[in-house]
Amino acid sequence: MSDLRELYQELILDHTRKPRNFRRLEGATRKVDGFNPLCGDRVTVYLDLEDDRVKDISFQGSGCAISTASASVMTESVKGKARAEVEVLFQRFHQLVTGKSPATADGAALGKLAVFSGVSEFPVRVKCATLAWHTLRAALNDEAETVSTE
Ligand code: ZN
Repeated sequence: MSDLRELYQELILDHTRKPRNFRRLEGATRKVDGFNPLCGDRVTVYLDLEDDRVKDISFQGSGCAISTASASVMTESVKGKARAEVEVLFQRFHQLVTGKSPATADGAALGKLAVFSGVSEFPVRVKCATLAWHTLRAALNDEAETVSTE
């Protein structure tokens, strides 16, 4: 288990240092800003939605390592997925980081998102890990232009 934990930490560090899809998305159909006042994390999610599918996605922002890595892995995980698939993935991810489902149970379905299983041991970090997701959901549902976790 400790080997797995080290691997997870390396992956999170890698995504923090080199966030994927970290750019403004030209031609985005939706753009939503998210804010986690608890930690000071800010994220902007750019979304290009076509026929209810995530054609392209990117993000920008500044925040702690967990929030940046989570946004980075999220953009990789949802690209090409239908809105309903993204929702299922979010529910699984949310259960994982809140400790309601063990990483092993849903590990395969979650793919890389499983690296955030350790977050469940730090409740204060849950909002850091889910900020980008809440922002993405608001963008998908065309709900708001700004999302706050508080
Ligand atoms: Zn944070």
